[in-house]
Amino acid sequence: MSKPVYKRVLLKLSGEALAGEKGFGIDTDTLERIAKEVKEVGDMGVEIAVVVGAGNFWRGRSGKGMDRATADYMGMTATVINALALQDALENLGAICRVQTAIEMRQIAEPYIRRKAIRHLEKQRIVIFAAGTGNPYFTTDTTAALRAAEIEAEVILLAKNVDAVYDKDPNTDADAVKFDTLSYLEILNLELKVMDTTATSLCMDNSIPIKVFGLEAPNSIKRVILGEKIGTYIY
Ligand code: UDP
Repeated sequence: MSKPVYKRVLLKLSGEALAGEKGFGIDTDTLERIAKEVKEVGDMGVEIAVVVGAGNFWRGRSGKGMDRATADYMGMTATVINALALQDALENLGAICRVQTAIEMRQIAEPYIRRKAIRHLEKQRIVIFAAGTGNPYFTTDTTAALRAAEIEAEVILLAKNVDAVYDKDPNTDADAVKFDTLSYLEILNLELKVMDTTATSLCMDNSIPIKVFGLEAPNSIKRVILGEKIGTYIY
């Protein structure tokens, strides 16, 4: 059997990934499928931390006319809903899991404590980071970059609704060209919509490679973990 090529990874799940076909809220079948894939990777001995987004409920920029910071706090709160749902799905499968929030909610989850998160990972517990960075004006992609640096993850697994990075939107442009590899600077210069610029710069400054791949194909997380060259590799 092939062996994992990574020991510790950070998986970024956008909120939309949990919504399935519905495009809004949480689709429990989709949630269960993702949880199974995450657990399977954990069972292979890979230490796995997850950052969840909230685009399936709320994004700060969707709050037209609202105070931006308030709208962003709403987004961060929404990530906690997704984190609790994922924790529940993982625990239903028998996985051991902890949610840590960047904004304290001690009744429902642990506060984010870096050293504790690392200890959980060492004990093969799946750690879910919720409430983003705890600060408005950031995204959960930036959270993924920050937490990956903090826990010394070897790679960010950026699971998307598209199977790789393209020069144009492959859903609307039939001649869109797929990138197998990209540098951080190419993303910034070509203004490719992979991650926002803050997240990309943080990865670049700290040499954190990113694997972008689609979640729709079955076992994609495991395939990436086993070193299969799917999606786009950014380094
Ligand atoms: N957010 C924030 N600070 C953070 C992370 C997230 O203010 O550190 C807010 C922001 O409003 C964002 C929302 O939470 O739009 C949901 O996160 P994101 O848009 O990154 O979710 P995704 O697109 O991954 O589903």
